[in-house]
Amino acid sequence: MSQIPLIDLKAQYRSIKSEIDTAIQTVLDDCMFVRGPHVAAFEREFADYCRLPHAVGVSSGTTALHLVFAALGLGPGDEVITVPNTFMATTETILQTGARPVFVDVDEETMNMNPEWLEAAITERTRAIVPVHLYGQIADMTSIMDIARAHRLPVVEDAAQAHGAEHDGIRAGHFGVAATFSFYPGKILGAYGDAGIVVTQDDDMDARLRLLCDHGTTDKENQLLPGFNYRLDGIQAAVLSVKLRHLDGWIERRRELAEHYRKLFAGANIVPPVERLGGRHVYTYYVIRVENRAGVRHALEQENISTQVHYPVPIHLQTAYENLGYQPGDFPAAERAAERILSLPLYPEMGNEQVEHVARAVLTAVE
Ligand SMILES: *Cc1c(COP(=O)(O)O)cnc(C)c1O
Repeated sequence: MSQIPLIDLKAQYRSIKSEIDTAIQTVLDDCMFVRGPHVAAFEREFADYCRLPHAVGVSSGTTALHLVFAALGLGPGDEVITVPNTFMATTETILQTGARPVFVDVDEETMNMNPEWLEAAITERTRAIVPVHLYGQIADMTSIMDIARAHRLPVVEDAAQAHGAEHDGIRAGHFGVAATFSFYPGKILGAYGDAGIVVTQDDDMDARLRLLCDHGTTDKENQLLPGFNYRLDGIQAAVLSVKLRHLDGWIERRRELAEHYRKLFAGANIVPPVERLGGRHVYTYYVIRVENRAGVRHALEQENISTQVHYPVPIHLQTAYENLGYQPGDFPAAERAAERILSLPLYPEMGNEQVEHVARAVLTAVE
């Protein structure tokens, strides 16, 4: 069998080429390249998709996080609680405000923030809690929100991997004061370049985000406060409007493929992703856990099957965070996961027989 990539952006483009080409041509004809009507239209569509009143298009998932942290007024002396097994953007944007990331370990099964450790991590300096809906599954927001409310702390959902993910019918973005999404091309809703968005149900937060993401001005003349150039481009918005119409279909197919993998792995020495009861996991990454990961990766490479590790080094052990004083062993669940996780190919254009081919290769390698 030919090469099986982790995701196949070319196949996706081929499947919607005429819609995409028309959408991009419209932006070229209008010359509305930064913010403008295409961005406004997509903001409305994405807010509706999330069933929320506001969405502010921005230049990436990273700038989305930084924008929210700036809007919350984070600064030196503040602490922000998050998890160590996330993409480096979650924590670098906390550091960039001058605040300090404080980590809590994750749940063994879901690898999402473990609320059991949350209370003990809260101090008088804590200013926000940032759960990450890792791999496309919503964290235990019922418990996290109970604790946050008791301490009157704002929660920001890093939903970069969780477009359309739900728990008990409630979509990502509904729990916190704001939620950030990434449209990096490899995410399940991907632009043709960098892009991101912030959603919120809070009118004041929406106004602050809009102001800050465009230099702190609403009229290009009067600057109300120093802001950023974190605006979304028209071409990206037009591409995203087209793709958003396909997202639920793609998510259904992702879920089917994940279920197919799960059945094929039943009884083997492989831990497939654990979907919480009442959850709609969107499988941005299909992450299994195996004991001999290096061996499995190598065997798959021999078969031309691409794999990846999201993420091999927990943040508290990264060089950039050395001065925070964390040690190996501080977060055993996250560290143990980092040694065993392996992301397998999964994309909506993938055929069942390709899943079977990948599964066979993994099963042979773990025997
Ligand atoms: C991708 C990602 C980001 C950053 O998004 P970009 O659009 O790449 O800047 C932030 N957090 C998480 C959890 C991510 O997966």
